[in-house]
Amino acid sequence: MNSSPEHLDVLIVGAGLSGIGAARYLQARCPRVSYAIFEARDAIGGTWDLFRYPGVRSDSDMFTLGYSFRPWQSPQVIAGGDAILTYITDTAAETGVDGRIRLGHQVVRASWSTGEARWHIVARRTDTGETVEITCGFVFSCTGYYRYDRGYLPDFAGMDRFGGMIVHPQSWPSDLGYAGQRVIVIGSGATAVTLAPALAETARHVTMVQRSPTYIAPLPARDPIAEAVGRILPPRQAGPAMRWFKALTTQGFFQLSQHRPELVKRMVRRQISRHLPAGYDVDTHFTPRYNPWDQRFCIAPDGDLFKAISNGSVSVVTDHIDTFTERGLLLKSGDELEADIIVTATGLELLFIGGIELCVDGEAVDIASKLVYKGMMLEGVPNLAVAVGYTNASWTLKCDLTCNYVCRLLNHMQATGMRQCTPVNRDGSVSGRPLLGLTSGYVQRSAHRFPKQGSRFPWQVHQSYLRDYRALRLRGIRDQAMVFSNQG
Ligand SMILES: Cc1cc2nc3c(=O)[nH]c(=O)nc-3n(C[C@H](O)[C@H](O)[C@H](O)COP(=O)(O)OP(=O)(O)OC[C@H]3O[C@@H](n4cnc5c(N)ncnc54)[C@H](O)[C@@H]3O)c2cc1C
Repeated sequence: MNSSPEHLDVLIVGAGLSGIGAARYLQARCPRVSYAIFEARDAIGGTWDLFRYPGVRSDSDMFTLGYSFRPWQSPQVIAGGDAILTYITDTAAETGVDGRIRLGHQVVRASWSTGEARWHIVARRTDTGETVEITCGFVFSCTGYYRYDRGYLPDFAGMDRFGGMIVHPQSWPSDLGYAGQRVIVIGSGATAVTLAPALAETARHVTMVQRSPTYIAPLPARDPIAEAVGRILPPRQAGPAMRWFKALTTQGFFQLSQHRPELVKRMVRRQISRHLPAGYDVDTHFTPRYNPWDQRFCIAPDGDLFKAISNGSVSVVTDHIDTFTERGLLLKSGDELEADIIVTATGLELLFIGGIELCVDGEAVDIASKLVYKGMMLEGVPNLAVAVGYTNASWTLKCDLTCNYVCRLLNHMQATGMRQCTPVNRDGSVSGRPLLGLTSGYVQRSAHRFPKQGSRFPWQVHQSYLRDYRALRLRGIRDQAMVFSNQG
């Protein structure tokens, strides 16, 4: 006998920082909604469980990377990966969300049926390979933005000739011994900038090889303002106060970078020069060709990278790689670098909604041809929201707003008896542009696989907490683009 599959009101996909936050929002704001979290891996935490390289840490402040409902309490503004993972798992345990997580469930397909007003979900059990089918009224994708099975690795010539070890930070071997070894780190992004000083603590020497420089700002790892606020205000007020303070100052710095790039370039250069030995070639190694915030800004907590350069344990080489050799790297300049270990901190492979195949009423959804609605839903795709954070501020700032909005949307549908909400673009003058407005290589490489944002709200993505706060928290749910239908 064929029994009908399990039905849930909401399926959250992914048990990382966003998925746990989304579940807590549902529990608090939509207590009657039934839900589960399907997580492909055998652990929660997402990014903060996957990445295990030495020194892994946040590169934005924890007051805004933490949840609004559970403010980050420590004055440690930049936190290590372990501390962030503990924060996520503690949140899941304290809120009881952990009981709703089904590990080892990778969602592979979601097919919407307007007739039934529900999604048919197909998931694969990653332990047994079995197929699991359920139905749900709404899908909330909290799948992050990159592939978990592999990082990005350019096709460097001669990699197979290298006699030492090649390691990608996304799959760091827990037993990799680098003490006393000569290490080359290829890359100039947040991962390379984090890894180089961390490895240099015990390695014989670390050379960071970059094709071109990145903006790096030295910042105190503990925030003196947070410490002062923590002394003056009770924890219930200190958390939100610090979150707003950081959200606004980060936004202010971004705006300054957009409007006065030359001023910001000078400020950053002056600060970096102060941390480096006299006569250091800042122009070659730390003066990017792009404007501040055209790509994500890196930080060096307490100037760790610059300290390591100053004490000689790290050197930076700005050059192009010609080929790997038996002993290291041959650079385009003709210089050769020797190493025992080469770390390819060459980035992520971006992926939208965890690679889930979407289908609406029997038709496959071509994600790349769709506009995003309010940075969280897809044009023409009913009852599906996606947690996508900011590129110019902490991810959670936006995801918190998205979670709150989804709860309001679900409550509105329940109150009006509508079973379907579909963003529809009726404005022919709205043109599409890339969703993630950064010029970084990893963003450019995958832009064609991502949906677009439009030239006007609600299709435009603000990348501004203040504007989104107004649009998503303070304004109503109903607008001309959102169609509520399918009354039950
Ligand atoms: C090294 C590193 C440092 C970072 N530092 C910062 C920072 O300081 N500040 C900041 O704002 N951002 C940072 N980011 C971005 C970071 O990923 C986000 O801040 C945040 O962790 C994203 O949380 P998430 O839950 O949305 O996604 P993730 O952490 O990626 O979690 C997604 C989860 O979904 C699961 N999943 C994916 N697809 C499926 C599927 N089809 N079925 C079932 N489950 C699925 C994954 O297994 C994973 O557990 C960093 C990223 C990296 C890689």
